[in-house]
Amino acid sequence: MQTIGLIGGMSWESTAAYYRLLNELTRERLGGLHSAPCVLYSVDFARIERLQTAGRWDEAGELLAEAAVAVQAAGADMVLLCTNTMHKVADRVAAAVRIPLVHLADTTAAAVRAQGLRRVGLLGTAFTMEQDFYRDRLASHGIQVLVPDAKGRRRVHEVIYDELCLGVVREESRRDYQAVIADLVTAGAEAVVLGCTEIELLIGADDSPVPVFPTTFLHAEAAVTRALEAAGKPDPR
Ligand code: GLU
Repeated sequence: MQTIGLIGGMSWESTAAYYRLLNELTRERLGGLHSAPCVLYSVDFARIERLQTAGRWDEAGELLAEAAVAVQAAGADMVLLCTNTMHKVADRVAAAVRIPLVHLADTTAAAVRAQGLRRVGLLGTAFTMEQDFYRDRLASHGIQVLVPDAKGRRRVHEVIYDELCLGVVREESRRDYQAVIADLVTAGAEAVVLGCTEIELLIGADDSPVPVFPTTFLHAEAAVTRALEAAGKPDPR
């Protein structure tokens, strides 16, 4: 099995979920005491968040590119950027290394298409919902993207930064998300992309009348599949 490289810490609450998922999925596929060979470079999220708010994406991209180089040097065969938002600088990160970057929007789009769905609601940070980088990437796979109205986007964004990234999961926020999802469904969404790696801490399939696409799970699953397949076959080493 190949070694999975992670650039995490954005936030570490979701990176912890990645680590658990990678290992659980590997154990499911290989059995016994098998776990996922992986390398994690975890950043200080406060620094990244400051650069996001200041719109200093080039600097953030440079920082994450350096992290990718470190992950490669530590022996990773692929790199995962464990945040939807920072895929804004995915090209910069991918260009810094020889190993492939497993793109979160591509793995999400593949899962949506596999279920024959075309029109999704997108929940994520304001950057992800309002800017082009993520929506366009989904659209390049033939997926139509709907986002919540301004009030809904504000609420979804604030819950991510003020609660979920700090490990706080509140029932009231879950209800607010459910209301936002209901509006997206009324607007025609056939499914909802949980396009922020912390949202899975709050929302599951039971909280939505339409299918949800949990990006952290899908990203981890894609990495494990790739790590096993690229190695030829499951390696019972
Ligand atoms: N983890 C989040 C995401 O998937 C938000 C934190 C960040 O801004 O990176 O977008």
